[in-house]
Amino acid sequence: MSKPSTTLIHHPYTPPANFAAPQPGIYKASTVFFADVAAMRARDWKTKAGYTYGLHGTPTTFTLEERLATLEGGTECLLVPSGLAAISLVSFAFLKSGDEVLIPDNAYGPNKALATGELANFGITHRMYDAMNPSDLAAKLSDRTRLVWLEAAGSVTMEFPDLPALVKACRARGVVTALDNTWGAGLAFAPFDFNGSGQGVDISVHALTKYPSGGGDVLMGSVVTRDERLHRALKLTHMRTGFGVGVGDVETLLRSLPSIGLRYAAHDRSARELARWLAGREEIAQVLHPALEGSPGHANWRALCGGADLAAGLFSVVFDESFSTEQVDRFCDSLNLFRLGYSWGGPVSLVVPYDIGLMRDASVARWPHKGTLVRFSVGLEDVEDLRADLQQALARM
Ligand SMILES: *Cc1c(COP(=O)(O)O)cnc(C)c1O
Repeated sequence: MSKPSTTLIHHPYTPPANFAAPQPGIYKASTVFFADVAAMRARDWKTKAGYTYGLHGTPTTFTLEERLATLEGGTECLLVPSGLAAISLVSFAFLKSGDEVLIPDNAYGPNKALATGELANFGITHRMYDAMNPSDLAAKLSDRTRLVWLEAAGSVTMEFPDLPALVKACRARGVVTALDNTWGAGLAFAPFDFNGSGQGVDISVHALTKYPSGGGDVLMGSVVTRDERLHRALKLTHMRTGFGVGVGDVETLLRSLPSIGLRYAAHDRSARELARWLAGREEIAQVLHPALEGSPGHANWRALCGGADLAAGLFSVVFDESFSTEQVDRFCDSLNLFRLGYSWGGPVSLVVPYDIGLMRDASVARWPHKGTLVRFSVGLEDVEDLRADLQQALARM
């Protein structure tokens, strides 16, 4: 008869099966048991047929992966610790010394930082292309180009590119395309099947930190494909780099994912209303919101997202150049409901002033504005309260 200390570790009780509840069971594991040595030898960590080690998947991570693949219209999904880790995973999987990666000039900033840092250290070169000019991309594709990044809408400056044309140029050269789909979230358009055409990107990365989390309290990323060969390459790199995720965060995402459609539409409605209101204010030189006429790439947005008529909760404004940086800072500091902070997708509205001169690669597309840019992430507060907050801050500016 074992002592209690041993029995507590090797306890014979198993709860009855067939427990059913709204949320799936949560499994925590680094170690996974095998029934015998033969099973241990036979297990293949590369598929979802079984379990080998916590890093390579549990019922909980498989469940979230399957749901996210469905959200984006893909078939395979990998989870990584952040949206930026998803970008790194794709870069490490498909680039080697001597290769070149092309990045849009309005890309998420840390994607460019990865290229100038680690990728350059590994002997991988990068070039920026004008996201709004498919011929610029086509001209920059070379025999060394192994990966092209796409983003719609562009980070901060919000231009909406002609995604089908950009993808077509890459297809013609057999170059892998990877979309940062954080803005579209799998809801505004289908990344693997633009307008039901069957055409789309090869890989979609998503900062789950944003709308899938919806709480401003989780960091995670996903890499979705519907190409088994690309998925295998990503899975190998995932295994070799050890980009694991915490099960508590997976649980939070499983909890918030069912409401993503409702939340996304609510963020979108309020953002469009506030963007339209700001467009009519004399302090604002330009509103950058792809669903608003007059915004760069509006026609591209309408062509790809007009059916769903969805556009996330983000927009930027360029203040009239007569307002100094200090005045625009005062505007941001005077806001009460909009908090100063990075990221987006949570319930709290956020605001960030940006110096676009520092962000843009001047050699690609010239930034036409002189005034200061401020990016708004519209949360889930009452839209009239948000409008009143903007109004009082404009008055204080
Ligand atoms: C936030 C964001 C990321 C990175 O996500 P993290 O989880 O913060 O690393 C990548 N791309 C875009 C467009 C983002 O907005």
